[in-house]
Amino acid sequence: MKEIKVENRREGNILSRVFDELNEFCRARSLFILHYCTGCGAIELPPVMTSRFDMERLGVQPMVTPRQADILLITGYVSIKTLKRVMLTYEQMGSPKYVIGICSCTVNGGMYWQSYATAKKLDEYMPVDLYIAGCMPRPEAIISGLRSLIRNIELGESNNWKKYYENYDYYLGNQQKLFGDEWQTPVDVIGEAEHYGLVGEGTYGEHTEILQRVQQPLKPLEMRL
Ligand code: SF4
Repeated sequence: MKEIKVENRREGNILSRVFDELNEFCRARSLFILHYCTGCGAIELPPVMTSRFDMERLGVQPMVTPRQADILLITGYVSIKTLKRVMLTYEQMGSPKYVIGICSCTVNGGMYWQSYATAKKLDEYMPVDLYIAGCMPRPEAIISGLRSLIRNIELGESNNWKKYYENYDYYLGNQQKLFGDEWQTPVDVIGEAEHYGLVGEGTYGEHTEILQRVQQPLKPLEMRL
């Protein structure tokens, strides 16, 4: 995989650094998880969410809509069909956003490494902040992973979401390989990159050119009875 770098972080005068740190502290203590349950690893989530392990004591709670969620949890293997929905979901989440890949299947395909129907490496399609490996990992491992993410956010070190904008051409290229050149989503990722000041050398390229050629105006969905 092409190496992707992202510039970090606290710069500017002391007052802005204090505000950044306060921001990051508050953000780290109030995280909403959109749990996109893609594989068998999802079965470990009920104990994580309920009284036995109780993730709410860390300030983490489930959220049903991508627009209000901070964390996208991918809980196992992702089929190519499902990956399309995962991408749509990821792009609709507001930034900063964090992705956790649970299960070995998100790291390298796991036991589906040879399958024609699954995506093997999640981080070829979106930046992943944290992997919790195992087949499947226990709730203790998930709680420990959440603690690591919280610590990284507090330290201002969980900035992988910026990679998506700075290296959009790379991610889009991998998506086009799987979904075809006609692939497009309703989200104007390049417009967002400009908005956040995150246009990098990898934002534009041959794949964004293809997208611009094929992009169609979005049509409202039709409902038929
Ligand atoms: S790592 Fe194991 S438990 Fe997790 S999704 Fe893959 S096969 Fe299922």
